[in-house]
Amino acid sequence: MTSAPPFEPTVERNPHPRTAGELDAILADPGFGNHFTDHMFLAKWTPDEGWAYPRIVPYGPLSLDPATAVLHYAQEVFEGLKAYAHDDGSTWLFRPEANAERMQRSSHRLALPELPTEWFIGSIRSLLEVDGRWVPRGEERSLYLRPFMFASERFLGVRPAQHVTYGLIASPAGAYFPSGVKPVSIWLSTEFNRAGPGGTGAAKCGGNYASSLLPQQEATEHGCAQVAFLDAAEHKWVEELGGMNLYFVHADGSIVTPSLSGSILEGITRDSIIALARDLGHDVVERRVSIDEWREGTADGSITEVFACGTAAVVTPVKSLKWDGGEAVAADGEAGKVTMDLRSALVDIQYGRAADRHNWMTRVLGP
Ligand SMILES: *Cc1c(COP(=O)(O)O)cnc(C)c1O
Repeated sequence: MTSAPPFEPTVERNPHPRTAGELDAILADPGFGNHFTDHMFLAKWTPDEGWAYPRIVPYGPLSLDPATAVLHYAQEVFEGLKAYAHDDGSTWLFRPEANAERMQRSSHRLALPELPTEWFIGSIRSLLEVDGRWVPRGEERSLYLRPFMFASERFLGVRPAQHVTYGLIASPAGAYFPSGVKPVSIWLSTEFNRAGPGGTGAAKCGGNYASSLLPQQEATEHGCAQVAFLDAAEHKWVEELGGMNLYFVHADGSIVTPSLSGSILEGITRDSIIALARDLGHDVVERRVSIDEWREGTADGSITEVFACGTAAVVTPVKSLKWDGGEAVAADGEAGKVTMDLRSALVDIQYGRAADRHNWMTRVLGP
């Protein structure tokens, strides 16, 4: 990338923003991904101009030509992060530069242009400046931010698009576990893979999600909340869930997470848990974990806790692994102590209740 073009967004105010009463009704029970704020951010890229036309506009539908490349070839990447309200009324982001850099790596893999970090964080700041009243206050509530980028060129030939759109939308989110953290069951997909060697598994792209939907449906049919994927080459090594990374707590206190294989998404929560677990005195090991180790370790007690992590659900205890003809239950099936301690350590930093020793937080709105 050459030096970043200046970031000076224009602002077109929504003439019909939600009234205070409408907003209160939404924030009373936002759920996840149901409601969107009054505005959105857009910018476009062409080879001649680079990134240009940064703008805040009223939230609303995009008009796309039926021949828009993304609709045919899925040249698209996205990100997910949250804005957190602190008790003093300020609003903060958690490691936004890590999301910006991951989006750049995802874009590279999908042959999309890289959005400069200043633009990525600038887009969030400028959206929050107009829609700051949408950040929900209260326990484990947040404003979920969804940056995304797609091939917006009207062209059916197969090559990287010469017209690309970057957008940012925001959606208030309630607590993921409104009535207390509950351990989930995971379905082991033996028929399908999420990603293969040299594929797009390490990129956060919509295509990975498209291919995980059928196995996810299978998981739901078997009463499981999520699906676990194995590596595509040997069908032996544990990779991750459809949208969360995995952790195994051992009886000796050590914590193991599958090493980044090229087909595992580098979760920012995953990375943060490594640091926090070390802070709490655990030995953390990144290595390959076989599916037999998972099954046998939970059976013989050498694995005492299993959990999954990602921005949306933070840290989710895993009760059991199910497959065609069997089930492996971790410990007694309750949320484990190490899992819950790590979860608290992370959310306490995000909500400003614990010292930010790793300098992870960025303030975006004052009190
Ligand atoms: C986004 C995502 C994760 C979690 O990443 P975080 O940065 O922790 O939110 C894990 N796996 C997949 C496939 C993902 O898309």
